[in-house]
Amino acid sequence: MCLLEQINYQLILSDIYEEIANIDYEGNVANYIPQLAKVNPEKFGIHLCCLNEGNYAMGDSNEKFSIQSISKVLSLTLAFSMMGDKLWERVGVEPSGNPFNSLIQLETENGIPRNPLINSGALVISDILVSNLVNPKADYLSFIRKISGSDEIQYNTAVANSEKETGFRNTALINFMKSFGNIKNDPETVLDFYFHLCSIEMTCKELARTFLLFANHGTLTGTGECIVSRSQSKRVNAIMQTCGFYDEAGEFSFKVGLPGKSGVGGGIVAIHPDKYSIAVWSPKLNKKGNSTKGMKTLELLTTRTELSIF
Ligand code: GLU
Repeated sequence: MCLLEQINYQLILSDIYEEIANIDYEGNVANYIPQLAKVNPEKFGIHLCCLNEGNYAMGDSNEKFSIQSISKVLSLTLAFSMMGDKLWERVGVEPSGNPFNSLIQLETENGIPRNPLINSGALVISDILVSNLVNPKADYLSFIRKISGSDEIQYNTAVANSEKETGFRNTALINFMKSFGNIKNDPETVLDFYFHLCSIEMTCKELARTFLLFANHGTLTGTGECIVSRSQSKRVNAIMQTCGFYDEAGEFSFKVGLPGKSGVGGGIVAIHPDKYSIAVWSPKLNKKGNSTKGMKTLELLTTRTELSIF
């Protein structure tokens, strides 16, 4: 029981889980690299962390999966903490309404990506981190371990290498932006860093704990360390709300009403400021690339608790 609101999250999650675990929702596991294609499509886990320390879990919540684009929120957070508002000279804050790997808007917008959560934006953020970190891959992993409170977080090198072998679209995006002067480092180095960020693996429990930071206005609950200011945390949440679900961000806001981010590994993380963070993992994706059961789980959660940010 979460004492703050007298909501029985465990009961609600267990009802939702039982209700949808065995429904055969449409969708396909991401198959652009073999490491994602071979994941069991029936996996389904949920972990919810309350700010008052309550933890509630169901199903495969302790199994690692590839967090993929969810990492883009964390790289944004680190870059924002280092650069402040100068960051917005290199990347915008508008939803794109286009697929995550689209090149279309870059041409008319002079190589400035629409937002940091599409691939082009995350590549610019990766470029900024490559410029500002001493040992980018090691330093980024240390940052993730600090905010997750877990030293067990790792890159999956096989996934990163596979991404590299098939990453023709990302290579096109970075070279296109380089031609506009919005990539400062060697594109190969930035791509290697970006593919590693995408390859990070976490369990639902680790992911929910990592994002508790954004329910707590930028401050780590365990140590009290301020990672980003309250105002910066508000902005990261706003970007998740408007841009976190590829070209389905409107649908997620409409049905769920929480800031969140999805990844093609089937993970979705969402937060309710001052209340909780929740991670759901189910690898089957809908046509827009979001986890079908993950979306449904969160829709039922905010409906049954009658709590969303709206
Ligand atoms: N590694 C993927 C790519 O860059 C990210 C996919 C995602 O989760 O959106 O294409």
